[in-house]
Amino acid sequence: MSSEHIHFLIIGSGPAGYTAAIYGARAGLNPVIYTGGQPGGQLTITGEVENFPGYPKGVGGPEMMVELQQQAERFGTKVRYGLITSVDFSVYPFRVIADEKTEITADAVIVATGAAAKYLGLPSEQKFMNKGVSACAVCDGFFYRGMDVAVVGAGDSAAEEASYLSKLCPRVYLIVRRDEMRASKIMQERVKNTPNIEILWNSETEEILGGDDVQSIRVLNNKTGERREIPVKGFFVAIGHQPNTQIFKGQLEMDNAGYIVVKPGSTYTNIPGVFAVGDAADKVYRQAVTAAGTGCMGALDAERWLAAR
Ligand code: NDP
Repeated sequence: MSSEHIHFLIIGSGPAGYTAAIYGARAGLNPVIYTGGQPGGQLTITGEVENFPGYPKGVGGPEMMVELQQQAERFGTKVRYGLITSVDFSVYPFRVIADEKTEITADAVIVATGAAAKYLGLPSEQKFMNKGVSACAVCDGFFYRGMDVAVVGAGDSAAEEASYLSKLCPRVYLIVRRDEMRASKIMQERVKNTPNIEILWNSETEEILGGDDVQSIRVLNNKTGERREIPVKGFFVAIGHQPNTQIFKGQLEMDNAGYIVVKPGSTYTNIPGVFAVGDAADKVYRQAVTAAGTGCMGALDAERWLAAR
């Protein structure tokens, strides 16, 4: 196993990680960022970002992440395409293993590992993964052009996925488990006013059916008990996310859902010198701009903490 000392280690390469890198690099902390398994994070599977301040015409998610990386590199950030597989925050300098083959010691660590899509947990969902089942309409919608599809969920993600797919597919079924949606008013209106989106209220997906790929879904109306088989070729799951914090379990304080607990108004975790930013520590806002904001806070907190040592 090779070894390396890193003064300012950032784990995760979404807007939070790259913003921490930009601030850290400009403060002379020589940041090294480990990208994780999905370099650029969730925005790389997002189409158009219309709500990031400063982009009046919107910006593509992947494009934004390439530019954030370039901005971080411009000030000297080193970007490593690798996965942090375990951490030991009980020793100092902290010990971190990358790709099971590099042992890193670090003076300060920013955790910016983000969150990942949740699935329903049906065995058939696993069986048809990437053969009709997807958690990203922007990534996979193109494959279902001209075919009927279903989206499950009732938040902004589900509304956005359904709207996106309605431009490619003749009919989009939006499967909502209650009699109301959680999505913002504007997104709900958009979905309700799109003629080829059919909302199935009080509905639960019981099974995804097919042979080699998805042919239909069986949906239960939980009010009437009625079951319906609906022919679709694509099934998009948009029911929220879970934080990517498993490797920190038992070391960093977390809430029941696995979000890292930070000292209010800061990015300080229970371990001095380890700071948590972005969606890994945020179950409320979860926006690119708030992630970037906390990334900045993390770098400033770390810089001051390192200076005080
Ligand atoms: P949310 O947690 O907001 O919504 C998840 C939805 O999935 C809920 O409606 C929930 O139903 C439903 N759900 C959960 N589990 C199941 C299940 N097992 N079966 C059926 N349905 C289920 O997640 P989102 O990803 O939609 O949004 C997360 C955050 O990101 C929000 O703050 C949102 O505003 C934001 N966001 C903003 C966007 C934008 O501004 N452009 C775009 C996308 C997201 P129930 O309501 O019954 O609990």
